[in-house]
Amino acid sequence: MADRDGVIWHDGELVDWRDANTHVLTHTLHYGMGVFEGVRAYATERGAAIFRLQDHTKRLFNSAHILGMRLPYDADILNTAQCAAVRENGLESAYIRPMLYYGPEGMGLRADNLKVHCIVAAWHWGSYLGEESIKHGIRIKVSSFTRHHVNITMCRAKANGNYMNSMMALQEAVRDGYDEALLLDAEGYVMEGSGENVFVVRDGVIYTPDLTSALDGITRKTVMALAADMGLEVIEKRITRDEVYIADEAFFTGTAAEVTPIREVDGRAIGSGTRGPITERLQTKYFDVVHGRSPEHLHWLTLV
Ligand code: PMP
Repeated sequence: MADRDGVIWHDGELVDWRDANTHVLTHTLHYGMGVFEGVRAYATERGAAIFRLQDHTKRLFNSAHILGMRLPYDADILNTAQCAAVRENGLESAYIRPMLYYGPEGMGLRADNLKVHCIVAAWHWGSYLGEESIKHGIRIKVSSFTRHHVNITMCRAKANGNYMNSMMALQEAVRDGYDEALLLDAEGYVMEGSGENVFVVRDGVIYTPDLTSALDGITRKTVMALAADMGLEVIEKRITRDEVYIADEAFFTGTAAEVTPIREVDGRAIGSGTRGPITERLQTKYFDVVHGRSPEHLHWLTLV
């Protein structure tokens, strides 16, 4: 990742990709106290456009607020930086990574003498779980790792340190031959994937876990709004592991994962064992929206 042409927005300036460095004593590198976003820009007929940019920036700021990090820039500057990162790298579509982190100004946990630094990088990143997965779905496994307890880490924050849990769950799932992990919360109810929110469909009704220890996903919100527009009922509630086993359809949502069907959980086929019809309708609509093919949703797109 580090050795490529391009530019990265770093503390207010666009710097050469290879020069966007920080010291080994960077505080966030040691303790994981930082916040970030995962944003996507898509090709539209009017050029690259960032999907729900303002919502992502708002969540980044909320994450920083939760962790008590001072914000060095306002939302306008960060939105402009994200557009610049896509535009100045000549990208038609992109994954965008803004991050706020503590610098190498000190090492104490008090963190009262530290500067908050900011980067925004953008690069081409195709389908997160592979093109095949989007069409035919993925095989997942309930993780032996529990999702965070709400008073151990802050689950509303997209915080760097939270991802140690995600990575251990995903690595375990992949090592065991699955594509992704499904994490249960501290009480044993279904919560989310390592980087995705989860939905199940049963008898035409869509269910998703209420947000206790899951991230307040922007794709989740988008899909819920699109489902409502289509006249589909969406219910947020506690979901058990066996409710997923007997679902007609299941899918993950996320900026990176987009809308990815789940075809198997713990060796049990979900529904027909491939992408279900409601999943397919929502997925098609989602791709129309992000690519600017849905006139009523153009307000979610920011041309770079
Ligand atoms: N849960 C977790 C743990 C995630 O990392 C993500 C990805 N940001 C999501 C859910 C989905 O969120 P979004 O749709 O905003 O990308």
